[in-house]
Formats: sequence, structure tokens, C-alpha cells
Amino acid sequence: KESYRILNAELEHQTKNLRDAYSTLKAVSDIGKQLTATLDLPTIYRSVNHHVKSLMPCDVFGVALYNEVGNSIEYQYLVEDDTSLESSTIPLNQKSSFAVYCFKNSESFIVNTMNEDTSQYTDGRSSSFGNAMPAFMFHPLILRGNTIGVLTVQSKKENVYNDNTLTVLGIVASYLSIAISNAKNAENMQSLNRELSLLSKKDGLTGIFNKRYFNETISNLWYYAMRNQEPLSILMVDIDCFKEYNDLYGHLAGDKVLKTKSVILEKNVKRSSDIVARFGGDEFIILLSNTDSNGAVQVADTIVAAINDGQIIHEGSPISGYLTLSIGCATMIPQADSSPSQLIEKSDLCLLMAKKSGRNGVHATNDSIVINHSSSD
Ligand code: GH3
Ligand code: MG
Repeated sequence: KESYRILNAELEHQTKNLRDAYSTLKAVSDIGKQLTATLDLPTIYRSVNHHVKSLMPCDVFGVALYNEVGNSIEYQYLVEDDTSLESSTIPLNQKSSFAVYCFKNSESFIVNTMNEDTSQYTDGRSSSFGNAMPAFMFHPLILRGNTIGVLTVQSKKENVYNDNTLTVLGIVASYLSIAISNAKNAENMQSLNRELSLLSKKDGLTGIFNKRYFNETISNLWYYAMRNQEPLSILMVDIDCFKEYNDLYGHLAGDKVLKTKSVILEKNVKRSSDIVARFGGDEFIILLSNTDSNGAVQVADTIVAAINDGQIIHEGSPISGYLTLSIGCATMIPQADSSPSQLIEKSDLCLLMAKKSGRNGVHATNDSIVINHSSSD
């Protein structure tokens, strides 16, 4: 009977060990699954913290990453009893930090009591954050052979960590390193994509929007204006006698003028919804939302005046000896049977009229009304 009792107790003990091992395996596999399902670092840290708590005593959980600029390690996530501790930065020359030791030596370790001799790791035993815990483990975060940070789990109770808990922490650290790397790669990719998409919208020489972006945008604004029956105006801006300018002063000087001109155009177009774009060569286009013909002519007159004020010498120009420009100005309230290209064509025709009537001025049409401005008026 006694043998049977001992055998039974042994069996129960083995069964409990097996159950524990199974639940640890399951929790670790869940961590793996969850970490690959998201790229958001705060979510990743929270999720690992939650899982680790179910695997071992854990009153403090922290993830610190190496910061090359500050030559330090910075806690990205540090929680004591579910409360975030103020994030802390530890310079790599600090000799009293267990995290620094773990990072620099890429070595994991366990400390289990307050009285344990820890002189092999640090100078002293002060805590840089929160309450000093008697028991803790540190594990390096390693990615493709490089240590990228440290992971720590700490407990208010003594003697709670052992080789098994350290092994589990090691597995969690491997998952976490991969998840951090994935998240950072995704972040870099996103910012690269943003830069690329901005670049594809901009003109290489002047840095303002290009024709492609303009065409995309006018389609959207066209339908918005049609729904609200608001007027949409276009200014087609073209430098006068620019061929002669290039011939006389060279293409580099011509390029400089195009840049200066784009700055002047952007400066004189005030609303955030207004769009200034290079339409090609020395031609620029300006889209003014919810602006009637009077408003558009006002903006155009201001631009002509601003270019004249700039007094860019152009000895080849028969107009004034200075660089000038002409603007064609068209306005429409979009209808179902009209299109953005009609508005652009109208502004082009007006530009032609402005050129024909002596350049250095504005010619505008508001479908029926035709206004002719010139700087000599
Ligand atoms: P108009 O008064 O009738 O506009 O005469 P124009 O000489 O300005 O004639 P047009 O607008 O047709 O000529 C555009 C000229 O702009 C042609 C070319 O020499 C110049 N141009 C076009 N693109 C560039 C550029 O990127 N850089 C420079 N420097 N010049 C350019
Ligand atoms: Mg021109």
C-alpha cells in the first residue's frame, strides 16, 4: 500500500511537471504567433509582458534598446505592477547598471536574493528606476549576432528564478528581437515610401508640384466643386521671351529664374487649398479652389506686379528690359457635361490672348465675361 502511495505521488508529480511544461510551451508558442501578427512596438511589449506574467513571477518587466547616438541603452517599456515607470536612459559607461553589464557582455544572468554577491556584474546594487527588487533576470536581445538591447524580468519575492525561467526568457528574447527588427524595418519602409511618393509629386528643378500631381488633384477638386457648385479658377503663367533669356544668359541662369519664379508664385498664393505646379518648360499652373474670376484676376495681378518688382534684368526683352510674365486666367463652376481639361484649355487660350495683347499682363475669362489687364493700364 505504501509503495502504491509513493508511486502515485511520483506519478502525480510527473503529471504536474508535464502539464506545466505543456502550458509553458503553449504560452511561448502563443507569444511567437502574436508577435508576428503586429508591427506596433507598444502593442508587442504589452503582449510579451502579459504572457511572461503567466509564465513566471514578474512584478517588473522591461525592454531596453541600444541608442547609437547617445551611446546608451534606453528603456522603451518598463512596467512595475502594471504601472509604467518613467522611461530611463542609462549611459553605457555606467558601472552600477545590470542592464549595461548584460548588454555589453551579451550575457544573461539570474540574481535571486538581496544579499547575493553581484560584484561580478556591477559596482553597487542601486536601482535606476522604481523599487529595488531582490530577484531578477536579465537577457540580451540579439539579432543576427548583434546585441540590440536587453530584456529584464524582476520579482519582489526572493528565489523565484532558475535555469528553466531563464531558458524561457531566452526564447521570449529571441522572438522579441525578431519582432523589434520587423517593426523597425516596417517603420523605415514607411518613411521611405512617404519620401518616394512626395518625390514623385514634385518637380526636380523647382521643388514645387509637378504636372502629374496637378492632374491628379484637379480631378478630385473638380468633383468637389461640382457637388458644391463652387467656382474653380486656373492661372496659366508663362515667362515672356524666355528663349531669349536662355540664349543671352545661359541655361543655368534660366534655371535659376525658374526657381525664383516658383518661389514668387508660391508666396503670392495664400490659401492652403491653392496648388502651384510646374506645367512644363517655363509654364506654371495655379489652381484656386472656391475662387471666382475677380479673385483669380486679383491673384494674377499680384503675381505680375511681384515679378516686375523683382527686376530681374532681361536685356533681350523688348517689353521692359526686365523679366516679365503673362497670365491666362479662366474660371468655371464645374457641371456634369464639363471637364477639367476644358478649364485648362480656356486658361491656355487666355494666356495666348495675354501674349497677343503685348505680354506682361493678365487676360481672363469667366465664360461670358472677358477682362483684359495689362501692367501699363
Ligand atoms: P513667349 O513670350 O511667347 O512665352 O516666348 P518664350 O521665349 O518664353 O517662348 P516659350 O514660352 O514657347 O519658350 C519656352 C522656353 O523656355 C524654351 C526653353 O528655352 C525654355 N525652357 C524650357 N524649360 C526650361 C528649363 O528647364 N530650363 C531652362 N533654363 N529653360 C527652359
Ligand atoms: Mg514663355
